[in-house]
Amino acid sequence: MEYVSTRNKELRVSAAEAIAMGIAPDGGLFCPTAFPRLTHAEFAALMGMDYKQRAAMILGKFLTDFTAEELKSFTEQAYADEKFGGRDTVPIVSLADDVHMLELWHGPTCAFKDMALQMLPHLLTASLQKTGERRTCCILVATSGDTGKAALEGFADVPKTKIMVYYPVDGVSPMQKLQMVTQQGENVEVVAIRGNFDDAQSAVKRIFTDQETAKRLDAHGLMFSSANSINWGRLAPQIAYYVSAYCDLLGAGKIAHGQTVNVCVPTGNFGNILAAYIAKQMGVPLGKLICASNENHVLTDFFAQDGVYDRNRSFHTTDSPSMDILISSNLERLLFFLSGQDDALVRQQMDALAQDGRYDVSGALGARLRADFAAGWCDDAQTARTIRRVFEEQKYLCDPHTAVAMHVMEAYRAETGDSAPVIVASTASPFKFCKPVAAALGHPIETDGTEQLAALEAVSGCKAPAPLAALGAKTPRFDRVVDKADILSTLDLIL
Ligand SMILES: *Cc1c(COP(=O)(O)O)cnc(C)c1O
Repeated sequence: MEYVSTRNKELRVSAAEAIAMGIAPDGGLFCPTAFPRLTHAEFAALMGMDYKQRAAMILGKFLTDFTAEELKSFTEQAYADEKFGGRDTVPIVSLADDVHMLELWHGPTCAFKDMALQMLPHLLTASLQKTGERRTCCILVATSGDTGKAALEGFADVPKTKIMVYYPVDGVSPMQKLQMVTQQGENVEVVAIRGNFDDAQSAVKRIFTDQETAKRLDAHGLMFSSANSINWGRLAPQIAYYVSAYCDLLGAGKIAHGQTVNVCVPTGNFGNILAAYIAKQMGVPLGKLICASNENHVLTDFFAQDGVYDRNRSFHTTDSPSMDILISSNLERLLFFLSGQDDALVRQQMDALAQDGRYDVSGALGARLRADFAAGWCDDAQTARTIRRVFEEQKYLCDPHTAVAMHVMEAYRAETGDSAPVIVASTASPFKFCKPVAAALGHPIETDGTEQLAALEAVSGCKAPAPLAALGAKTPRFDRVVDKADILSTLDLIL
């Protein structure tokens, strides 16, 4: 299978090249030129597999320059039982009314980012080998909180890699910050920036495409790559859990063969929900893909207006910080797919976005957007009420991101009458966001340290995940804070 840039279809590369580069030289994102369809026989085979085997098989459909043995070995290491709490890699908890919580956060950093970032180091290291790359790979990550830690954990002490993480100084939860600044490893660096996530992401994207910086790195035997979901190697592993979830629901008799299941995803950079879209294109009977946002509801407006994207609005810091994003990178891939791979259209719209902060594809794509997607948003107060109500009525504790999805999913059902079974992507452990969760339950917590965990345990009767509990014994290593304008100078830290 070949990959092309969303902004230039003439640029064709292998999966290994796409993963090694991270982003196309023209600023576009690499996309597969076709979606592999799962046959009945393959689907039947998947039913009998565990998560690791399923993930290897799905990845094999996209990463055709990797052998089955390689992928099997990678998924066995990435999703090893001891890393995922010794339980199912991705357990599903079924609530009332055919609502199925897909718990994607049982990995080492307690957020769904582990599903991709435990895999990416294996894929990237192999990609460097396959492409004959000798240089050390320098991974720059802009994070709204969860990606940073998951990438650090995935890449810590991985040979031939260095990793540099930028997070918005006031934009992450105390637990997220503690996770990042205590990260061990010789090849890691963590920097707080005065600015928001979009500032960090835009700065990182600029560094990637800056020729001067590339030359400077090259002189030191280094090259850039990305662990953000602009990298195909980040996105591909996420497709597997939607396929696997459908198999699990079918296997447990919770849905009938071929029955349509909706999916609701708390969305920021549009990576997770795009993975669901791709699973659907592979033939998994998924219905509406419901895109849930917080007060930064640029995506809700995009879908409501049939394709008018406008980031000219104020940025809100919310209780669901991993969704505090106004530039959703992966939407670029959706435009490419829905337009029938119209690279000229994508290039035009992305130029407009860079220049005016706005683009309009309603004429070209409006109807197609509506066919696959629905969208909604809620504010922090509604999120808190949802956390409380779901806990009281169903004894299920949601983190704020997952609660946003619950709220939007319920609103969608009420508005449309579409009561099809729904998979809700549960993207983080509630213990990563103790304060807003405890406050929602009516028991505010004052402290910022790991004592928060015990407090939320007492209030909820749920147990904090071991990796978070272990943070109490760790010493912070990183305290650097820089202005967003100075990000480039921080590269000296890794040269
Ligand atoms: C990253 C993240 C999201 C948003 O996912 P995208 O793939 O960026 O849309 C939602 N919830 C949590 C907890 C996250 O960490």
